[in-house]
Amino acid sequence: MTPSIIDLSNRSLSLRLSPVAGRLTVDQLSADGVSWLDPQTPSDLFAATLDGKVWDARTLALEHAAVDGPVDGVRQATLRFGGPGFTITQHLRVFDDTAVIESWLEIVNTGAAPIRVERLDSLAINLPARAADLMYYTGAWGSEFEPHRRALNEPVRLESRSGRSSKGNHPWFALFDGEGRVCSGAVAWSGNWVLRLEPLASGGRRLSGGLNDWEFFKDLQPGATVASPPVVLVLGGDLNTVSQTYARVGRRHWYARNAFSSRVPVEWNHWWPYEDAEINESVFAQNVQLAEPMGFEVCTLDAGWFGPAEAGTFWEHYRGDWHRVNEARFPSGIRALSDKVHAAGMKFGIWCEIEGLGTEAQVARDHPEYVALRDGERVGCVCFGNPAVQEWAYQTLTRLIVEYGADWIKVDYNLDAGAGCNRTDHGHGAGDGHFEHITGYYKTLARVRREHPEVVLENCSSGGLRIDLGLMRYTSVVFLSDPDWAVHDLQIFWGASTMLAPDVLLHWTYSEWRNLNPPPYQTFNPHDPAFTRKIWDYYCRISMLGLFGLSQKLPKMPDWMAQRSLEHITLYKEQVRRFTKDADLYRLTDQPLRSGAGERWPAFQYSLPDKSEHLLFVFRLPGAEPERAIRLQDLEPDRLYTIAGLEGEPGVQKPGRELMTEGLHFAGLDEEESVLLKLA
Ligand SMILES: [Zn+2]
Repeated sequence: MTPSIIDLSNRSLSLRLSPVAGRLTVDQLSADGVSWLDPQTPSDLFAATLDGKVWDARTLALEHAAVDGPVDGVRQATLRFGGPGFTITQHLRVFDDTAVIESWLEIVNTGAAPIRVERLDSLAINLPARAADLMYYTGAWGSEFEPHRRALNEPVRLESRSGRSSKGNHPWFALFDGEGRVCSGAVAWSGNWVLRLEPLASGGRRLSGGLNDWEFFKDLQPGATVASPPVVLVLGGDLNTVSQTYARVGRRHWYARNAFSSRVPVEWNHWWPYEDAEINESVFAQNVQLAEPMGFEVCTLDAGWFGPAEAGTFWEHYRGDWHRVNEARFPSGIRALSDKVHAAGMKFGIWCEIEGLGTEAQVARDHPEYVALRDGERVGCVCFGNPAVQEWAYQTLTRLIVEYGADWIKVDYNLDAGAGCNRTDHGHGAGDGHFEHITGYYKTLARVRREHPEVVLENCSSGGLRIDLGLMRYTSVVFLSDPDWAVHDLQIFWGASTMLAPDVLLHWTYSEWRNLNPPPYQTFNPHDPAFTRKIWDYYCRISMLGLFGLSQKLPKMPDWMAQRSLEHITLYKEQVRRFTKDADLYRLTDQPLRSGAGERWPAFQYSLPDKSEHLLFVFRLPGAEPERAIRLQDLEPDRLYTIAGLEGEPGVQKPGRELMTEGLHFAGLDEEESVLLKLA
């Protein structure tokens, strides 16, 4: 059959697939009238390596094509290609009136013999030569969202091989053309992923990727199906536009939000000042008592609540034994604490590293079949590729909800699984253990969400080492990093906001760490005489850019600081978070860097969708020049804006044109001082 033209265009995106020489390819991919296709080399659309042979839309015949929707703003093309003994179906989704494409594959073995799947590229598109300036991030503990920029002169492979999506590279890139226009891509996958940019003879680049083919193979049995992780492509006139597009589609279609997370709640978490050694039921209860009048909405019991009570034991070694509450620290049990939090009108959060497996965990002795092994050695986790583990994990998480009354679970992941489990008695094969682990983990979280939709799931991985659009479909909050000193905070917020909306980005104010060897700069002392209200405002406003939270000893807080925290929480709830939740975010400056380089006057503008109101956060960092003009964006040039603080400070009036060209001038701020203004 001759395929017909498939048109997925909308007001922002032109996307058309047509047959060329009897084979389907993309013949239009443009945003704002600007094409992102290499004019000379037809795109493959996707690629799959099966039994050593590469198949794509240029080598396979299209058997069936359908376009459905729009349903809830989504249109989806289903393109089925037939090969010898298999079908490959490419799914392409487009959203509302945005320049976003989401693509993934499903392969079905229709033959009588197993097929070895060795590589799955969810998308393969040839980009034009003018898109030659690449931006991407590396991620490691305490150094998430480290930016890199380079001219594309040679092949580039961005990837993770650590077993978690953001350790290595973050699963995202932006490619700029000479006019600053952007083509950005992301892999919605929490394990090992890859994005390749390879030069074409025409001068353009072939973009391909999805699941990482490194150490991967899957033996697909007759009748069986495998689906590849989605790859997302976003086009726009600049990086802010592209990020806003990611955020809009994320909020409406991807994030697993619920009523409570949509409130953008204010969190207190016990971890940094107490860690495990100093937390117990009376310390937690004292904090809860103070948290309520300060306006917190959720109190989270982080690690340290479970494991044996004996001195000299470490809970890390017992991860997996989630049934064991540390009775020395919590003699009344967890439910008693949760009841106290609920009685104070707040939600109760609890930490759990459901995939983690400590060296001493009894669960591994009782259920050796749960253990992920690679070449006989422990990977450090249970294997979700084993359906029995999925059931055990579901029951375990359900117990936290039903028996402990948890409204919020912070699911952590503190290990590098690498290529993952290669046992062959789990239901997966020797080459797809980690793929099936991530798939099984998603399934388990989806089941928890289905049965307990009111519970918020927070994604954490040694801080921010698993930040991706895959896990965002099962969680509604992502924790950005363990360290939280000010400049670091701003660097990671700036970076994370290039892909995610601010209302899912959780990071606390600068925390007082109990740890005796904190990283450099992470040495906050609320009792330091040099610590002032201005500096605390600066720390709080940094956290208020996303989900606002504190990890502080509330009973030990100086009175002025507790009072000021209450004021910030009140302000956040009454005036700021409606912006966090719905506004378009504009990064008005370059990214500040923890190294001391980068932008020293970072500023962020939040504009409500109808552009009627805007918030402006401005921070003067250490080492910044004394004065700076900040230019706003997307205001109405002829409109007169009243610009005023949120706490009764006097306002000024300026026309939009002036605010966008000359900007707002800031002088007289100390280093580590901030300004929060509203424009209406
Ligand atoms: Zn396994």
